Amino acid sequence: MLPEAEINRVLVVTAHPDDADFGSAGSVALFADRGVEVTYLLATDGDAGGNERTLDNTGMAELRRTEQLAAAKAVGVTDVRFLGYSDGQVVPSLELRRAIARVIRQVRPDIVITHHPDRNYQFIAPSHPDHRAVGGATLDAVYPDARNPYAFPELFKDEGLEAWTVREVWLNGGSTPNHYVDVTEVMDRKLAALQSHVSQVSHVEGFADFVKGRFAAWAKQAGFGEGRYAEGFQVVPTG
Ligand SMILES: [Zn+2]
Repeated sequence: MLPEAEINRVLVVTAHPDDADFGSAGSVALFADRGVEVTYLLATDGDAGGNERTLDNTGMAELRRTEQLAAAKAVGVTDVRFLGYSDGQVVPSLELRRAIARVIRQVRPDIVITHHPDRNYQFIAPSHPDHRAVGGATLDAVYPDARNPYAFPELFKDEGLEAWTVREVWLNGGSTPNHYVDVTEVMDRKLAALQSHVSQVSHVEGFADFVKGRFAAWAKQAGFGEGRYAEGFQVVPTG
């Protein structure tokens, strides 16, 4: 794994508002506290989300963008970008790969955090089709698109974006995590980030306890012991 000192910029690529907050907001808070620059890139605005809706999809998209900005701020992230794909209809297209490769070349991250592209057969929630599509397209954008100067040559020709090699990818939601981050110290901020998604979670009874239980279980699996919280990742070397 990359030594901490060599991680200066991190790009988190997700499908929907709240994915980054469930998956990695604790780790992101720890990065931000160390002065690491973190960028969020969301494929959709989450316009198909929500319960007991009074808003149409455009209204929901606007609301969820606002909620995501607040959630990002809670863990020290101010650079939040949206690609505007339709919620529930994301496929790992060449167009999506190019859009992600563009941001990789703009941000030049040392590590990228994204969804695991494989279906998790132990637990279905992480395997939303948009998640798998974004995870697959992001890995393809990391290798080969962003680093190969001959891939999407218009990115250099029209926008001056030079090739960039991401050195490591951390995958969320897979069934074979191999790296756990102890997020106990920042658990209150991760929870605040999640609760910023008011349209998604305010109606869920016992939401805080549910979240704490989930991440306490990861900590136990990681061997961090009682009273600790952890986020789990599969780390893929891509340098
Ligand atoms: Zn999602």
